[in-house]
Parts: sequence; C-alpha cells; structure tokens
Amino acid sequence: MAENIRVRFAPSPTGRLHIGGARTAIFNWAFAHAMGGTFILRIEDTDPERSTEENVAVILNAMKWLGLDWDEGPEVGGEAGPYFQMQRMGTYAEALERLKERGAVYPCFCTKEELDAKRKAAEDAGQAYEGYDGTCRDLDPAEAARRIEAGEPHVWRLKVPRDHGPIEFDDAVYGHTSFPADVMDDMILVRTDGSPTYNFAVVCDDSYMGITHVSRGDDHLSNTPRQILIYEALGLPIPTFAHLSMILGPDGKKLSKRHGATSVEEYRDRGFLPDAMVNFLALLGWSLDGETTIMSRETICTEFSLDRITKKDAIFDETKLNWMNGQYIQQAGAEAWTQAAEPWLVETVALGRSVPEGANVVPTANPSDPNAPQPEPVQITDAAREAAAAEVEGGLGYFERAYPLVAERLQRLDEIPDKLAFLFWGANCRLDEKSVKKVLLKDGARADEAIAACREVLSDEANPWEAAVLEEKCRALAEPLDMKLKNLLQPLRVAVCGNMVSPPLFEAIELMDRADVLARIDAVVARVF
Ligand code: GLU
Repeated sequence: MAENIRVRFAPSPTGRLHIGGARTAIFNWAFAHAMGGTFILRIEDTDPERSTEENVAVILNAMKWLGLDWDEGPEVGGEAGPYFQMQRMGTYAEALERLKERGAVYPCFCTKEELDAKRKAAEDAGQAYEGYDGTCRDLDPAEAARRIEAGEPHVWRLKVPRDHGPIEFDDAVYGHTSFPADVMDDMILVRTDGSPTYNFAVVCDDSYMGITHVSRGDDHLSNTPRQILIYEALGLPIPTFAHLSMILGPDGKKLSKRHGATSVEEYRDRGFLPDAMVNFLALLGWSLDGETTIMSRETICTEFSLDRITKKDAIFDETKLNWMNGQYIQQAGAEAWTQAAEPWLVETVALGRSVPEGANVVPTANPSDPNAPQPEPVQITDAAREAAAAEVEGGLGYFERAYPLVAERLQRLDEIPDKLAFLFWGANCRLDEKSVKKVLLKDGARADEAIAACREVLSDEANPWEAAVLEEKCRALAEPLDMKLKNLLQPLRVAVCGNMVSPPLFEAIELMDRADVLARIDAVVARVF
C-alpha cells in the first residue's frame, strides 16, 4: 500500500498571508491531492504579541478565497488536533517528559546575564560566539533536581550527542544536504516559563500529526538540522523535507513591499481571480512540463510532484500575472465573471451615476506623467454606492450582457469601473479632452454632421434596437455623406462613450436604451459644437 501522505501548511498568524506563504500552501495542497494524501492546516500562534484572532481569520479567509481546502485544521477539526499550537501545550510537555526519560535533555540554570556576559567576552576577545558552552550539561543530576525543587528558574536544553557525525538528509528539492553537528550548541527546547521554542514545537507537532513531507520556504533550511536532532532525540521517524526557493522581484531582490502588493488580500482587492492566482503561484518554482502556462486546478492537483520543483529562485513577474488573469477572465464566461466582479460592478454603476451634471470635458488621464493635469476623481457618496449595490444585485443579467464588451480587454477586475462606467452616465458624459480635440473638433472632419446623421438612424423607431442593425444603417451613411468610416463613427463613439478608445460601439449602444443614447448625444453636441 502506498505510504499515507500527510502534509501541512503551518502559517504564523502574524500578518496577512504573504505571496510566498500562499505558494507554500499551494505546493502542499497540490501535492496532497496528487498523492491522495491529507492536507493539514496548522496555526503556529505562539507569538503572543503578533498572533491575533484577526490575523488568523485573515489567513483562513485568504486560504478559502484561493480555494485551498484543508482536510484537517481549524474549523474542520481532525483526529490529530487541536490545530493551534497554543492549544497543544500538553503535547509539548509530554514530549519533554519523553526526552527526560531518554536522557536527551538537561535543565540549564544559566541566567540571561551570565550568557550575555559570555557572549560579550567572546566578542571582546575578537572571537565568534559559538553558542551555549554546556556549563549545565554535566551538572550532577541530584543537584539539578534539588535546584528545580527549590524553584530555581531553568530552561531545558537538548543534549546534542558529542559524537554525532554530520547531520545529513535528502532534501526533495536541494538533494543530499549535510550540516556539521559539532557547531550545533545545546539548543533550548523549553523556556523558563514552560513554553516550547519554535523548533521543538514544530517537531512535536509534525510527528504527532504524522506529517510525512515538510515543504516550506528555504528560510527554514537552517532549522532543519536542529529539528532532525530533536527527532533523533525523541526516537521518532524523520519526515522528507522539501525546501522551496525564494521568490524574487523582477529586480532579482527578495520579494517585498518595495515591489508592490505582497499579500493575497491585496491581489484579491486588485481584481485577480483565485484560479489565476493559484495557477500563477503554482508555477513559481514548479512546472508541469517546462512549457504549459495555463492549467486548471485539476491539472495542478493531478500532476503536481516534488521532483519538478526547481531550486532556482523564482521570479515574480507581475506582467505575466496580469496576462494570465486576463486569460482567466476570458475563459470565465459571463456568469462566473459577473459573480466574481460584483464589487467592481457596484463601483462601476456608482461611478457612472455620480458624474456631475452636464457633459463634462476632463483632462486626459496620463498616469506616466505625474505633472500632467489629471482628471479630478469623481466623488462617490455612500448613498450612491448603496443604490448601486441594490441595482447590481437586481440586475446581474444586464452585466452578463456587458461581459462580451470587455471580456478580451481586461487584465484585472479593478479595471472594470474605468471601462464600463460610461454605460451609466446618461446625459452626464465625461468627455476625454484629447478625444474632443482630435475627433470632435478636428479641422475639416465634419464631426457635427457625422453625429447628426447617425443620430437620425438611432432616433428612428423603425430601426430595431440591435447592434448589428444599427451598425449597418450607420455605416451605410458613409457613402452618401462622402465620409471615411472613421470620420463617421469616431465622433459617435466619443459622444456616447466619452472617449475615442472604447469597447465595441454598437454593442455598447445596444446596452443603453434609445432615449439615453439620444440624450447623451444631444448633451455633447450642445457642449462641444
Ligand atoms: N510557522 C512557520 C512560518 O510561518 C512555518 C514553519 C514550518 O513550515 O516549519 O514561517
């Protein structure tokens, strides 16, 4: 029978779920699925200052949003629980008893002041401090017992075997790895207050929970030999380790705030789809075949294997993520898109309806030049947002019809308001200054004539309100007016959509009603000509 694979993701809830943590979670989740194993979520909440309930909730929400369901852990429970380290103190105490019985630990009474003084002395003598010097290692056990009995503060240290050869293990990513044991000092496992140190708690939990494979960031690589010593001291089997390379920004430096968003939440709020995020993060250090970029969760979960993880650092390429997200938006289909996009659709309606009265000409947005005049942001009131939310909730079908307008033009959902708010302007158009100059006021282009002619077509009740019909009738005007198609239709586009760059014009027109389109044309004509 195949080994019963058990893996875990063990975040410390000290902040949001970082991109690197999410990648680790995805690798473990996918590996568990591919191997028919169990994916465990364990919360390492022993840092009392920074581990808050709120942070736990943030992490669980991010995991849920990514769709990384765990088989055992918070909320779902499981036989190896509890899954919060703070609730596992009893198991650490038991493990300490076991180590005492095995003679693998000893109490140490050295005070912080004494240890600091030794460190300072070594430094003053120009030597590197080599860690704890073993002062209490050979204390007479009876004396040690007496001092404990008398209530003297003490920690418990691991008695690292003096004759231990190099600590070796076969890392699933880094391959055969070896650390000299003689540089490992007798590390503290349990502090004076009885709390376990990080390495001790992790080993206790991983062994208690039956973890077979530990995949985690390679910032933990230096902890691994220490953890192996603890497993050996406990006489417990050592899991397979897989250390995952770092994620770097495009500049080759470790991914950090400097590079922009670093938490899963921020990506969610910027309109990335969870499927795209999972796909993108799965490829940070793993590949299916070295070529395929777009792959479903099912493929990732079936095909994932540790031997295709690279030890090369992974580069976080946001341009690729944007592109990939665009692909997922295209694949999503109208219904799924509408659901995922709901918050931005609310923003779209609110934005469109909040444009000040009358046709407004606004400076062309120029994000690359901060000194150029920028359009004033439209002020949206809470009431407008509430009304928009109700409107969107009751009218998702409308947005399903709008999806084809933008499906191929979006990379992120947060681009929707900018692209679709015009649908909700009514007569309060927000006209792009450059488009007004280049299209409506262009010398000799007869934009006013073009708009008037198209308006005739659009106002004729005999013409059914269908994109194809309206487009054909408008295009047919080019010949009698002796006008290039571009000169004929661009002015209409600017009048209706506010900009010479817009989604397909007649499909957009079909989404508005006749009276609305005529009203905006009239407002623009009155404002501009
Ligand atoms: N709690 C640790 C962290 O968030 C992970 C420990 C581990 O994976 O062994 O970095």
